[in-house]
Amino acid sequence: MTRLLPILLFPLLAAFPAEPGQPKLIDAHVHYNGNPDFLPKFTAKLIAADGQALLIAAPKDIPDVRKFMAANPNRLFGLGQMSLDDPQALQLVDDFHNTGFRGLGELTGPQYSFDDRRYWPIYERAEKYRMIIMFHTGIVNRRNFAEPMNVSSDRMRVSTLDLIARRFPKLTIIGAHLGNPDYAWAAEIGRWNPNLFFDVSGSTLYKKQADLAFFKTIFWWDNVVSPHTPKTDISAFEKLVFGSDVFGDNLDEFDRELDLYRKLLQACGVSPTSQEKIFAGTLWRVLNPKP
Ligand SMILES: [Zn+2]
Repeated sequence: MTRLLPILLFPLLAAFPAEPGQPKLIDAHVHYNGNPDFLPKFTAKLIAADGQALLIAAPKDIPDVRKFMAANPNRLFGLGQMSLDDPQALQLVDDFHNTGFRGLGELTGPQYSFDDRRYWPIYERAEKYRMIIMFHTGIVNRRNFAEPMNVSSDRMRVSTLDLIARRFPKLTIIGAHLGNPDYAWAAEIGRWNPNLFFDVSGSTLYKKQADLAFFKTIFWWDNVVSPHTPKTDISAFEKLVFGSDVFGDNLDEFDRELDLYRKLLQACGVSPTSQEKIFAGTLWRVLNPKP
């Protein structure tokens, strides 16, 4: 019976009205890998789910993506893929902004820690444009075992986002992968930084499948009133936004991740109102700020 509950309860979400024009789903984390066939296929999936997505795209793909976005308005919002160490980084931020992209990401593989002062001018420029920045956080894959690489997961520890969030308060920051495995740090810095959110894409929900209630110990401050917690009645789980981390045109990952998110939120007893924000509302408000 308990296994059936998620299936039975999820449709209740439809009972909670969203803002006019708000979709049911906004996927924060989708990689475009340069195959033009991907865009219509993924968009068909989004239309079926009443969804929108942040699409991570490299500068070379801007013309294709821009053309597709113009033909399919209000479906995809660009995040510019770039390296923090690119000597032309500031110019790239300007270019992404001028092309209508809404943010940067997924930032990964930096030569220094994410919060290093050398990167501050980039964050400052992005903040000027009220951008979203998605950072890869935590353990990162190693694609080619034979090739020497100057890449370290340690430079991408989730705790490096704390300084960035405080120093650049008008940035909206998404930490991808909830800092895997530093979940506790992710939640704690999220607790004090209203401009910081996380997706829990990647291996985490597979790893924790048998123990999804674990996340209640990470997002612990619901209904806790104390001088040590921010004054808010927002559910701790609203630090999460939905992100599928579809890459390499693997559309199945979208369905798997959606299923895992639903199971996670059900296992932790997250209310339909909060789920509506996690699946769409939070990013909707970021993408459509009130004047
Ligand atoms: Zn990532």
